[in-house]
Amino acid sequence: MSFCTDIKNELADIKTRDCCKSALIYGYALFARSFNAKRICLQTENEKNAYSYKKLLSSLYDVDVNIKKGGGVRPTFVAEVLSEADRLKILASVDFGITDTSIYTDLFYRDCCVGSFVRGAFLACGHLSDPDKSYRVDFNIKDENLAKEFLRLLLDHSVEAHISKRQSGALVYIKKNEMIVNLLALMGASSVSLQYIETSVIKSLKNKTNRARNCDNANISRTVEASHKQRKAIEYLIKHERLEALPQELVSVAKLRMENPELSLKQLSAKSPDSITVSGLNHRLNRIMEIYEEIKK
Ligand SMILES: [Zn+2]
Repeated sequence: MSFCTDIKNELADIKTRDCCKSALIYGYALFARSFNAKRICLQTENEKNAYSYKKLLSSLYDVDVNIKKGGGVRPTFVAEVLSEADRLKILASVDFGITDTSIYTDLFYRDCCVGSFVRGAFLACGHLSDPDKSYRVDFNIKDENLAKEFLRLLLDHSVEAHISKRQSGALVYIKKNEMIVNLLALMGASSVSLQYIETSVIKSLKNKTNRARNCDNANISRTVEASHKQRKAIEYLIKHERLEALPQELVSVAKLRMENPELSLKQLSAKSPDSITVSGLNHRLNRIMEIYEEIKK
């Protein structure tokens, strides 16, 4: 199962407080496909979500909600109020007006109610990516102005999101890991939040170790390459009987390098009998390389 399914299952299962019920249904209503006299329905890929929408509507307004399963490989569920009388009953009872373009905040009595509203919005039009693939939450919103108001509401509750315009409506998205965790907490998804944090921590640890390993590998190959060049130069000097003519400190460093081809400068300096520093050693090896270049010319 995907993270998105897990989180929708968890969110759909949360027991809603009385003060939050209107806000939750409002979130569903405002962000679902339709909530008007002609059609009241929620289309979702998540079965639990469809049933929780049904339960909420039927318990609050005593109406019938039909659930139809459709789609092939990826099934969809449509929870719909089929009777017109029931739809009118709902619309007469809700204490909010659906304008499609702005958010009626008088419904939010407490912070928990805002959380419930956002939860309804997510269940109606949201998607969460798996954190081991990417950090991302999307809300696919049918109206741009509504999307802007939603963005502001999220920001007021410590969730920083962004907006991108679509042909119809807009996408409100969140890409920062910590902001996604804030959103999950706001919506009340505690166990998925924890899983999400765990997975993202593991992912960032893996990235860090990979970077460190790449760095180590790069250092090792630099050491190997430098040692190879130095040995080639020293062998050339030996072959042309020029090594012994060099100052004694260069000869001893050349021998040290030939005897220990695999060592880094630091390891080589630790092995040196005349306790030479790394930079001193480096200087002498560079001097040998210069002499080699001169002779070769
Ligand atoms: Zn509440």
